[in-house]
Amino acid sequence: MNTPGLHPATLILGGTFDPVHFGHLRAAAELYEQLQVDDFRMLPAGQPPHRGRTQASASDRLHMLKLALRAHPGIRLDDCEIRREGPSYMIDTLRQLRAAIGARRPLLLALGQDAANQLARWHRWQELPQLAHLAIMTRPDNPPAYQGELAAVLQPRCIADSEQLWSLPAGLVLHLPITELAISSTDIRAQIAAGRDPAFLLPASVLAYIREQGLYQAG
Ligand code: ATP
Ligand code: MG
Repeated sequence: MNTPGLHPATLILGGTFDPVHFGHLRAAAELYEQLQVDDFRMLPAGQPPHRGRTQASASDRLHMLKLALRAHPGIRLDDCEIRREGPSYMIDTLRQLRAAIGARRPLLLALGQDAANQLARWHRWQELPQLAHLAIMTRPDNPPAYQGELAAVLQPRCIADSEQLWSLPAGLVLHLPITELAISSTDIRAQIAAGRDPAFLLPASVLAYIREQGLYQAG
């Protein structure tokens, strides 16, 4: 770590990645370019508590991400949630990361605007800003919509310029415009189950793995 020219900071982009697709990967690449951190990780959720079971197993989701990230040496894979037992609460993941990187290194949690608008549903969400900055990827069709307690917690922390992130370990909220590709894992799973071909929505290596393993077939 501490690569010259890059900010000494850790960023995680979480998701179920069931499967990973070019929407995720483009968002990651744009975040990587905009924020220039020296430790950029994609972090697949183990057992997401607030949604149903993933269709592919944790090890398949991890393997697909590994294949996809071969094309981007700056982005690494963090399997800490998958290795941990029980439901994956982001608060526990951030605590674990914070313990590993020390108290002073900026830690950024990247999440889509859709997820940010629902943040008040997350376990102990009020404590997240004590552990990390939030880098919220805005989408034209999904503007910030914070209400009640969520607005009270997030709005005073909002900054307009990423430079402020590097002088504090946690606590700030930055909104970043990210190109949204109209691709979702749900749609890819549905296409495969219907016998259609989702070519060009995700890396060919990932699609080949899905075919080999027979993932996302109907029934
Ligand atoms: P599903 O359809 O199963 O919900 P998904 O395609 O939405 O899957 P997730 O694993 O839920 O993928 O998303 C992980 C992260 O990537 C979230 O922060 C989400 O906001 C973001 N994301 C998902 N799809 C896109 C996309 N097309 N463009 C940019 N960001 C995306
Ligand atoms: Mg989703």
